[in-house]
Amino acid sequence: AKSDHSGLGLASGGADDEDNGRRRLTTLEELRTGLDQGELVLHYQPQLDLATGLVSGVEALVRWNHPTRGLVYPDGFLSLAEHAGLMGRITTQVLDLAVEQCRAWRAAGLDLTVAVNLSTSNLHDPGLPEHVAALLARHGVPPCALHLEVTEEVLMRDAARATETLARLRALGIRLAVDDYGTGYSSLAYLHALPVDDLKLDRAFVAHCDTDPRSAAIVKSTVELAHNLNMRLIAEGVENEVVLDRLRGWDCDLVQGYHLSRPQAPDRLTPWLLQRQADALASAGGQLRNR
Ligand code: C2E
Ligand code: MG
Ligand code: MG
Ligand code: MG
Repeated sequence: AKSDHSGLGLASGGADDEDNGRRRLTTLEELRTGLDQGELVLHYQPQLDLATGLVSGVEALVRWNHPTRGLVYPDGFLSLAEHAGLMGRITTQVLDLAVEQCRAWRAAGLDLTVAVNLSTSNLHDPGLPEHVAALLARHGVPPCALHLEVTEEVLMRDAARATETLARLRALGIRLAVDDYGTGYSSLAYLHALPVDDLKLDRAFVAHCDTDPRSAAIVKSTVELAHNLNMRLIAEGVENEVVLDRLRGWDCDLVQGYHLSRPQAPDRLTPWLLQRQADALASAGGQLRNR
């Protein structure tokens, strides 16, 4: 950036800020319209259970189907939405879509759990547990089929209130996970106190655990930590077969990553899920016959 000799804040830096501000305002207006028009869509990424070799669930990841910009990823609008107080509306729509999709999959014979990400403001909404309970009842989806993910950052901000909301959600029978585990203000004190079921170890530690000994040490010890706390360890960001083999050897519970599948729209993912289920049944049948 050029330095500002005018002293009026008119150098390139100032102009850029103004441009950015305008762009953010436009995006925000478009997002409000988009929420009215139902432009949010969900892509789903499968989670593989290493003990059974079956895909046991999926994570719902929001995208904004913008009329001219195409698919906008969470990086492009979620922090703006959080600042503008729109996260409540977004989460309501995401939960609606995810629970309805879960119902449709179950009706098609796919017994999958669906994980939804929550943000800070969601946990500060005391009405969330009742809302979720009513939604599940309306769709006839059992609470154990819904998983909710929160990051460490979300948990640390007003921890008492967040913990209370989580405890009420968990009392409904919903499973809770700490997302991006290890990247936040990791403190063992909150792990000790929090009502959570799963740790999702961040991909920063998982991605290179096949080649980097320090990553490997972190993954191995975190699996042990999780198991000693009666939690499951989910590894995110599994991008190749070697990493998958390592994780299996270290007794990791579930994996998620591009190696298994990228997040996909349901119309593309459903045939993939059905095919995998058919293959699993066929190979189980083969094993029975061969005994
Ligand atoms: P996350 O919950 O940790 O989700 C995992 C992110 O990593 C996703 O990015 C996913 O596409 C990506 N990913 C999955 N496997 C791999 C892999 O093997 N390699 C690499 N490099 N990346 C992988 P995405 O969809 O862009 O979402 C980013 C973040 O946005 C999410 O991180 C989550 O924190 C947030 N987010 C997404 N959907 C929602 C939502 O509905 N509500 C809220 N509150 N947050 C959401
Ligand atoms: Mg997540
Ligand atoms: Mg994550
Ligand atoms: Mg993340």
